[in-house]
Amino acid sequence: MGSVTYEYDDETVIVTGGSSGIGRAIALAFGAAGATVINADITPQPKDTDSTEPTHEAIKTDGGTGSYVETDVSSRTEIESVVEAAREFGGVDVMVNNAGWFTRGDLFSVDEETFDRIHSINTGGVFFGCQAAAADMRDRGEGGTIVNTASISSTHAQADQIPYDSTKGAIKMITQGAAIELAKEDIRVNAVAPGHIATEFGSGAEQKEDSVAAGDLVKPIPLDRPGYPSDIAPVVLFLASDQADYVTGETVYVDGGWQTF
Ligand code: NAD
Repeated sequence: MGSVTYEYDDETVIVTGGSSGIGRAIALAFGAAGATVINADITPQPKDTDSTEPTHEAIKTDGGTGSYVETDVSSRTEIESVVEAAREFGGVDVMVNNAGWFTRGDLFSVDEETFDRIHSINTGGVFFGCQAAAADMRDRGEGGTIVNTASISSTHAQADQIPYDSTKGAIKMITQGAAIELAKEDIRVNAVAPGHIATEFGSGAEQKEDSVAAGDLVKPIPLDRPGYPSDIAPVVLFLASDQADYVTGETVYVDGGWQTF
């Protein structure tokens, strides 16, 4: 089977939540493709890899250019600061709004604080990430691309996940709405929707090697294996690339067929 490589030389990419899991795989893939990568995370320390080397250091070890800006995506000001930091490298060309938080809770158990927290990180982080990056791209007049991390939860509610699922549903609609508004600025906006991915993240942790069995809680994965961060990264690189020049407002599911089954 063939393989595809991407060239992101001279491009600056911000990945939120790039220290661990899916975001780390995305950041490393952009770094390997030649991009200058800024990891915007609350901590530089990876929690879900065999290596303790922070993402930006790992990119440098591989001969690339990486940096880390401590960022809490629930703060609009901090997101604006990381976009500002990208100006040192010529401005943001690709914004990947990936950071997310997961918590379980049914309709009656979720309190106001938890509800607000998950919406400010997941929904607010993506909305203000789109806003800050798009403003910079628009002002520079060179276009750009944005990729948001949605989820199978964007369209499929699961038990005890109402707060999380509602944030992911919102991300799908933010992606569509921003794509419509930003098309005239030559800025494309898409989302990747991972299925059950083996990371430390919430439900992901319990989906590791016994993912298929754990998936029985909901329904099986047709491709009969868990997903990995390395399954998601190439799709993000494609969506951000010129190869996807006619793709905008789309949410691409990378879930082993879970949501279609
Ligand atoms: P992860 O926990 O491995 O990584 C999440 C990263 O986000 C961590 O580095 C963490 O420090 C960072 N982060 C958390 N809160 C932050 C904040 N407020 N500001 C900045 N950074 C913050 O999780 P993951 O599985 O890689 O998840 C990444 C994204 O993928 C999330 O948006 C998640 O909703 C989505 N997703 C994951 C799965 C899965 O099964 N793992 C499935 C669908 C969607």
